[in-house]
Amino acid sequence: MMYDYLIVGAGLFGAVFSYEATKQGKTCLVIDKRHHIGGNIYTEKQAGIDVHKYGAHIFHTNSKKIWDYVNQFAAFNRFTNTPIANYHGDIYNLPFNMNTFHQLWGVVTPDEAKEVIERQKQQAGVTHPTNLEEQAISLVGTDIYEKLIKGYTEKQWGRLATELPAFIIKRLPVRFTYDNNYFNDRYQGIPTEGYTHIIEQMLEKSDVRLGIDFFDDKDHYQQLAKKTVFTGMIDQYFDYVDGTLDYRSLRFETELKPISNYQGNAVVNYTDSDTPYTRIIEHKHFNFGTQPDTIITKEYPSDWKKGDEPYYPINDEKNNALYLKYKQRAEKETNVIFGGRLATYKYYDMHQVIGAALETAERALSHDQ
Ligand code: FAD
Repeated sequence: MMYDYLIVGAGLFGAVFSYEATKQGKTCLVIDKRHHIGGNIYTEKQAGIDVHKYGAHIFHTNSKKIWDYVNQFAAFNRFTNTPIANYHGDIYNLPFNMNTFHQLWGVVTPDEAKEVIERQKQQAGVTHPTNLEEQAISLVGTDIYEKLIKGYTEKQWGRLATELPAFIIKRLPVRFTYDNNYFNDRYQGIPTEGYTHIIEQMLEKSDVRLGIDFFDDKDHYQQLAKKTVFTGMIDQYFDYVDGTLDYRSLRFETELKPISNYQGNAVVNYTDSDTPYTRIIEHKHFNFGTQPDTIITKEYPSDWKKGDEPYYPINDEKNNALYLKYKQRAEKETNVIFGGRLATYKYYDMHQVIGAALETAERALSHDQ
C-alpha cells in the first residue's frame, strides 16, 4: 500500500502532523529510530512515577488555541515551575526576583533591590561588553552573576564565561515582585498521565514502526509514501555535503532512591562550578506524587560529536550560515516537508513545535485536497 505520508520521527512535531493528516482521512506511516514514541518529551513510568527520560519538560504557553489543542489529549495538573538554585549549599529562588534579592542581600523592597543592582553595575563599569561575563555583569551586577550565572553557564557551554560571546545572553529577566513562577505564560502544567500518553493518542490512526533508522534505506522508505515529513537532522538528510551542524549534548544519570522526598522541589539548579552537573530533577514533584520511593536525574552537559544525541543547536554565525545552505537545499526538495527542532536547527519549546506542526499540516493538507 502507498501511504499519503511517511513521517520520519515520532516526536511531537511528527505526532501532531500525523494526527492532523489522519483526521482528514490521509494515511500515515510513522517511523522512529528510537524504540519508543514521543521523541524528547517521552515519559516512562518507573516505581509509579512518570520519569522525563530526556530532561524536565514543563508545558507552558500563552496561546489559548495551543492550550485547548493539547487539552484534547490530556488533563493537565496545576504544576508551576519554581526552580531553586543551590550555590555551595545556599538556596536561592529563581528566576531572579524579590525572594532571590532578599536571600542575597536582606533587602525587602523593590527600590532597595534596584539600588543594589544599580550600584554593582556602576562599580563594574562595563560599558561595551566583549564577552558573556561582562554582558551578564552589565545587566544584573556582580553578585547575581557570580552566584547564580557564572558556574551554571560555564558548565552548560563547557567554556569559561570570559571566552563565551556576549550575544548568548541578550537579556536577563529580573523581576521586582515576590514571584517564583519561572514562566510568564498564561497556561502551564504537566499532563497527569505523562507526555507519552498524549503522543499515543495523536498516533492512534497511523501505522507506527519503531527502531527504524530512515537513513538505513532512505529510498525504500520514501517510496512507501507520496510525501515525506522529515523531523530528523537536516544536515544528515543531505549527507553532510556542506558540513556538520554543531550541537551541545547532555548526559542523564537516573537513580531510584528508597526515600519519599529527596530535594523537596522538581528542579534544583547547581550554580557553582565544583558540582559537575547543572541540575537535579526529582520527577515525582512534577505530579505531586506520594509514592514511597523517589527517582532523581542528574543532568550533565557535554560536548557533542556525530552520533551523540543532539540536544541544543549552537545558533552562532557559523552554524546559522551553514543551516541556511541546508534550508535552501530543503526548499528545492520535492515532496519532502522539513519540520521540528532538528530539521529547522532551532530550539523549540513544545508549544512552539505544536504551533509550527499545525501550520505546516494546514498548508500541506490544503494542497493535497
Ligand atoms: P524530537 O522530540 O527530537 O523528535 C524527533 C524524532 O525523530 C526523535 O524521536 C528521533 O529519534 C527521530 N529521528 C531523528 N532522526 C531519525 C532517523 N534518521 N530515522 C528515524 N527517526 C529519526 N519544551 C518545553 O516546552 N518545556 C520544557 O520544559 C522543555 N524542556 C526541555 C528540556 C530539554 C533538556 C530539552 C532538550 C528540550 C526541552 N524542551 C522543552 C523542548 C522539547 O523537547 C521539544 O520542543 C520537542 O521535543 C521537539 O519535538 P520534535 O518532534 O521537533 O523533536
